[in-house]
Amino acid sequence: MVEDEKKKIVLDKSDFSTWYNDVVEVAGLSDKRYPVKGMNVWTPYGWKVMQAVDRILRREFDDTEHDEVQFPLLIPKTEFQKEADHIKGFDAEVYWVTHGGLNELDVPMLLRPTSETAMYPMFSLWIRSHNDLPLKTYQIVNTFRYETKMTRSFIRVREIHFFEAHTCHETFEDAEGQIREDCSIMDRLAKELCIPYLLVKRPDWDKFAGAVYTIGVDTIMPSKKTLQLGSIHQYRENFSRPYDITYEGADGEHHHVHQTTYGMSERLIGAIIGVHGDDKGIILPPKIAPIQFMIIPILAKGKVEMVTEAAKELEREIKEMGFRVKLDLRDVRPGSKHYDWEIKGVPIRVEIGPRDIENNTLVFKRRDLSTKAFIERKDLKEEAQKALDEVEKEMLSRVENIMEDGVKEVDSVYDGKDLLGTGWDGIIKTNWCGEMECAREMETQMDKTFLGYPLKDAVSGETEKKDGNCMNCGKPCDTVVMLSKSY
Ligand code: ZN
Repeated sequence: MVEDEKKKIVLDKSDFSTWYNDVVEVAGLSDKRYPVKGMNVWTPYGWKVMQAVDRILRREFDDTEHDEVQFPLLIPKTEFQKEADHIKGFDAEVYWVTHGGLNELDVPMLLRPTSETAMYPMFSLWIRSHNDLPLKTYQIVNTFRYETKMTRSFIRVREIHFFEAHTCHETFEDAEGQIREDCSIMDRLAKELCIPYLLVKRPDWDKFAGAVYTIGVDTIMPSKKTLQLGSIHQYRENFSRPYDITYEGADGEHHHVHQTTYGMSERLIGAIIGVHGDDKGIILPPKIAPIQFMIIPILAKGKVEMVTEAAKELEREIKEMGFRVKLDLRDVRPGSKHYDWEIKGVPIRVEIGPRDIENNTLVFKRRDLSTKAFIERKDLKEEAQKALDEVEKEMLSRVENIMEDGVKEVDSVYDGKDLLGTGWDGIIKTNWCGEMECAREMETQMDKTFLGYPLKDAVSGETEKKDGNCMNCGKPCDTVVMLSKSY
């Protein structure tokens, strides 16, 4: 019954918005029928994908000396109100808890929209001397934001699967070093997830509430609109002062710590779906695919038992090699099985039938290119690894193309309009003199908003500089900026 219902949906990526909602549903990644809008149910397959991403995050942050913690979900209003800008930034998005049972609470509490105000009162107790620094923590928890715009699975939700790292350091330079480490983590993560990304320092008017500066991690969706996947913030002493987080230095004096944060969410999955999916379904990067190999037995009449046994043996074998593998023994035609696992983005489907058993061969079908290859059974281990590597390589080359086609340099408003006239609607890279008037005019003329200042690379943390002229007024300047349409 479910099968039939699924097949009624025709996936057509040329209508991206409808396609996205449909593909999330038919791939079984999330169920949005829960009676609170924007609070979606993680279905088993979607949760496995998210857990695979979380495993990479945990590995990266554990390897860089961060410690995982878990803070309470509820934050007392009194703690939330300590940092003024932070409140301003989140006030309209907060869910409040006002009652405990039948009693009105003396101090109302809120569901964390992010955890600065939950963690920092405790950091102030934990940190005593410079020996306690750096303090590097992270947690993976649900956060809540009262979203008023239209919600969309993984992209705009009210209950967010949130990764947040919070660090404390002795000096501003130490904190800057942390931000560079964060950028390099993002670089490695993006490669494993096969997603395009840009590191862009936000303009001052668009930074995080309470931050000294914010680096946005943006991806480029097929529409060429940007989607913020995460953000990295330099707080300097903006939070350590109101929350009184101090340490005794080697000089015997008390100093406020310097802090950074790094946030990411299930938008990482939204990016993978959007960037790589096609009219056949989603395509999962091999490193996070819950099932890397799906075995589909060709059960010819009279040979059912023999093929089933051989397929089970093959499953055991592939599992022992350390890959994630499953065998589809449902009583449906092989064609339907192929169709179902194609939708779910399994990188390699493995066919085994009577003839393959006789010839000691297997058939590998790749999800990304829809190609078919005959594999000698004796070469299985090497061929299996090679197949996954090739899928990843192909996905990364697609990412490269998206990056190349997604960003174009422009010298003047005139050139910009020319470019947009061709129907291309991606990210514009240009020079800006720093005048707000020019910024507003550039935004209006290009019908895009300031994304910010692109970083030169993930390592240096420096923004890109290039001699040129302000896109709007023509004044010589070397500040490079990007403008985009964003989700
Ligand atoms: Zn100007």
